[in-house]
Amino acid sequence: MSHAFELGPIRPPSEAYSLLVRITRNCPWNKCAFCSTYRGQTFSRRSVDEIKSDIDAMRAIADRIRDAVQNSGTHGRITEEVLAHARGQDDTPEYYYRQMAFWLYHGIKTAFLQDANSLLLPARELVEILGYLREKFPSIERITTYARAKTISKKTLEELVQLKDAGLSRLHIGMESGSDTVLGLVSKGVTAEEHIMAGQKAMSAGFDLSEYYMPGLGGREFTHENAFRTAEVVTAINPTFIRIRSTVPLPGTELHAMMTEKSWTPLTEDEKVRELRLFIENLGDLTGALLSDHMMNLLEDVEGRFPDGKQQMLDIIDGYLSMSDDDRGNFIIGRRIGEFRYLADYTRDSRIDAIRRELKREYRTVDNAVLELLKNFI
Ligand code: SF4
Repeated sequence: MSHAFELGPIRPPSEAYSLLVRITRNCPWNKCAFCSTYRGQTFSRRSVDEIKSDIDAMRAIADRIRDAVQNSGTHGRITEEVLAHARGQDDTPEYYYRQMAFWLYHGIKTAFLQDANSLLLPARELVEILGYLREKFPSIERITTYARAKTISKKTLEELVQLKDAGLSRLHIGMESGSDTVLGLVSKGVTAEEHIMAGQKAMSAGFDLSEYYMPGLGGREFTHENAFRTAEVVTAINPTFIRIRSTVPLPGTELHAMMTEKSWTPLTEDEKVRELRLFIENLGDLTGALLSDHMMNLLEDVEGRFPDGKQQMLDIIDGYLSMSDDDRGNFIIGRRIGEFRYLADYTRDSRIDAIRRELKREYRTVDNAVLELLKNFI
């Protein structure tokens, strides 16, 4: 008997240790010009029975691993021998045992419902799935999911409260921009007004809410508008978290084609930092936190809680912008080749100097080199 279960391709970085439960497949919209995650994949819903059967399979593997650990004398450690023993004659591929062992190691305190827009399922189905998941894994303290603003805005407040009460605690919404011009440019399929309506409704229902903002999404043409309008929309929502996702035109996306056709001009790393500064500066009275928790962002140090942390975030950005051209270039290259994670890690290093000069010879500018390096990251 096999205990395989379905897994979707992504989850937010903040859900790295979460049990992943796939409740729909792919993205029902799948048209955003910057997104390649579900390209060529068709959206489909999964039935409640299918999802329960996946949760049963996860539970069965977890139980086998726990039994094997108890009989192993490894003092609770999940070793290769323990995993092999747990699997025994089970013809479930080893991958699923490793995945489950990883989650067990991290305590199964959080779960993430995949894929791109779980709230498309009727509320009563979601409530049933959430109840079943919590019954089978009582250690879970937080359940989160991606959802589109358009879909949330169509749910009633009562339905959202039902989902919150059933254990769904956090929603991740890809706002990307609060500018209707930019949202239209990248075919987001949602207006600023719908973002505000959905965000306010999600907050009223009691969810923790993550709103994602993409500095640079409007290109050089709309960088100011992207900063100002997004600051307005975010201020109107006052979400729990603002998460920064700097724009990178990925090969194969419409945004990349727009760049090639010169109808959209990518921002340099410095210009994205300046846009981020303008955004933060123009945020109104907020009480949540800003997080830069993604490798695409140049300045991971720019994080903090409002209102007190706002000036500190601006100071970090100003500290970067006041560095010499060579130091900023070195930091950019060092960050993109994995030498530095934070601005605070930066020191002048002749080796990075040499790499920067070499990359400039090959790609003409630091920013052209960065576009190449980021392709490899992804
Ligand atoms: S809604 Fe999200 S997952 Fe779907 S295409 Fe847009 S960015 Fe990608």
